[in-house]
Amino acid sequence: MSTATRPTGLFVDGEWRPPRGRILVRDKYSGEVVAELAEATAADVKDAVAGAYRACAKPLGEAERARILSAVADSLEARAADLVEDYVAETGFTIADARNEVRRAVAIYRLSAQEALRIAGEQIPLGASPGGESRLAFTIRVPVGVVVAIAPFNAPLSTVAHKVGPAIAAGNTVVLKPAEKTPLSAVNVVSAFAEAGLPPGFLQLVCAPGKVAGPALLDDDRVRFYTFTGSTAVGRAISAGAGLARTHLELGSNSVSIVADDARLGDVVNLVATAGFRKAGQVCTSVQRILVARSRFDELTSALSERVGQLRAGDPRAQDTDLGPLISEEEAVRAADWVERAARSARLRQGGVRERGLLTPALLADPAADAEVLTQEIFAPVVSIVPVRDLDDAVAKVNEGAYGLQTGVFTQDLDRAMHAARSLRVGGVMVNDTSSYHADAMPYGGVKDSGHGVEGPRYAVHDMTDPRVIVLNLR
Ligand code: NAD
Repeated sequence: MSTATRPTGLFVDGEWRPPRGRILVRDKYSGEVVAELAEATAADVKDAVAGAYRACAKPLGEAERARILSAVADSLEARAADLVEDYVAETGFTIADARNEVRRAVAIYRLSAQEALRIAGEQIPLGASPGGESRLAFTIRVPVGVVVAIAPFNAPLSTVAHKVGPAIAAGNTVVLKPAEKTPLSAVNVVSAFAEAGLPPGFLQLVCAPGKVAGPALLDDDRVRFYTFTGSTAVGRAISAGAGLARTHLELGSNSVSIVADDARLGDVVNLVATAGFRKAGQVCTSVQRILVARSRFDELTSALSERVGQLRAGDPRAQDTDLGPLISEEEAVRAADWVERAARSARLRQGGVRERGLLTPALLADPAADAEVLTQEIFAPVVSIVPVRDLDDAVAKVNEGAYGLQTGVFTQDLDRAMHAARSLRVGGVMVNDTSSYHADAMPYGGVKDSGHGVEGPRYAVHDMTDPRVIVLNLR
């Protein structure tokens, strides 16, 4: 097969392959086609897995992995302006969102480079085992082999970095499948790896709809690890198809921030104005529900309403825009319908007015308990405030829901904060911050319908290696 010199979107065994099918990437604000990429067929995907499987027979040394990951970080930093342009076009997120994600991706590849140099096993004391005195046992950590990384549309640089960075740091080979709506950022990242000298087969890129790529990637014994971020529904399909391979599943949420009666409301309002609406609310930890002590409900509703009224939805490239369009008009229609239905029972409804893919920032006060805006993941710029009796009532409401990603708890009482943190069945509790706080070095993941497995380079590198025990029988 002849190969292309310019990135086509299909990168297998160190070469950009020419397109057979094509994926049109549209600007999410203007609707214009901004790029045409090669759509992988099921046969291309199988080729990519086969190449990654061949390559993993000879893992790279730790120092070489670290060198390549650092070079990728440097190159992304140097090309930040181009990355931002592609990112804003394909996501519809604002320039500020784009710059933030470029910075995060650079940091994640640097953290991964450091972790590549820290992989270590341990000595195992055998003294207590009969006959163990004359033996010396220790573990080394070895790469798992082929890692399949499947990414969602809403963080095309940072979720890819959280998968590819640790997988390469751990010495594995990777088949990357980005979301079909936002593949351009992944093409840029793969180009950076190729230029940094990553040998053929170590990072393969396939762009295709999930229904084409999924069956070819799943149920394949050559794949030893699936790292997936996306919806809970697709996460279940990955889990069912992964067989005996390990999985990290970073799934959906209808995240909560709890506001106790002693909370500093000014902080809540400032943080929610960003954490509920950035990326037009299309963030898995986005503040979707605020459970506030009844005694502070009116005060918080009016302060937040004033603040949300100042946020502007519009052209993501304009300086004064706080949020751009949703990823598609269909998603905006769905979210606007949910707002309409919830507004029938709510005490206050603000925003939620749709124009094409744009939805004005919405606030709902006390909608019915069974409203979709409360029970399901909305993934749109819509925040609902619900009064609760107290902190325990709020914790119970979080725990009775299906999801368990992150929860924010606002209170000035450290004892009450710790009581809530111990009682909440979620992956992370952010005290005096919203559910959306995330530092890339920290362990990050959910429980229940929000998935399992923990990201953060240190934790993911550990999970993407196997311990191999070596026992020396010394005479
Ligand atoms: P999605 O589940 O529709 O798609 C995610 C990826 O899976 C895409 O690349 C898609 O092509 C692929 N896919 C679809 N069907 C597949 C199949 N049958 N087999 C294999 N792959 C398949 O999600 P999305 O709409 O791109 O992203 C939004 C979702 O992601 C939200 O639910 C959000 O909460 C979640 N998310 C979670 C986190 C987290 O860290 N927990 C972070 C970001 C996004």
